[in-house]
Amino acid sequence: MFFLFGTGAKQKDMGRFLNIPCLFCNERHTMHLSKHYSYFHAFFIPLFRFNTAYYLSCPDCSAVYKLVSDKARQLCRDALTNIELADMTVVRHGFALCANCGARTQHDNVYCPQCGHKV
Ligand SMILES: [Zn+2]
Ligand SMILES: [Zn+2]
Repeated sequence: MFFLFGTGAKQKDMGRFLNIPCLFCNERHTMHLSKHYSYFHAFFIPLFRFNTAYYLSCPDCSAVYKLVSDKARQLCRDALTNIELADMTVVRHGFALCANCGARTQHDNVYCPQCGHKV
């Protein structure tokens, strides 16, 4: 007997949604929603999915948020669903605004490129 089974991961584009708040931009944006999940397969036939997660990405500051699954499913059904920052967890930081001069700095910068202030 020869068994072939294992797990894989997939990503699905759910489209763009309006009016999503961004912590780093401090305003609401059109954001890109993608669904990520892992699946278990046997003989290359997907049997079930697990670890489903939804991610929002801000095109402006490149921040990535994990969105609460219930809200994400609701958003896919009704694009006008109100999404608040409380429904989102920051996965990747977007541009930060320098507290000293207000310049935009990259999320991996430690010092402001404009004034050298620590971000
Ligand atoms: Zn943003
Ligand atoms: Zn600065």
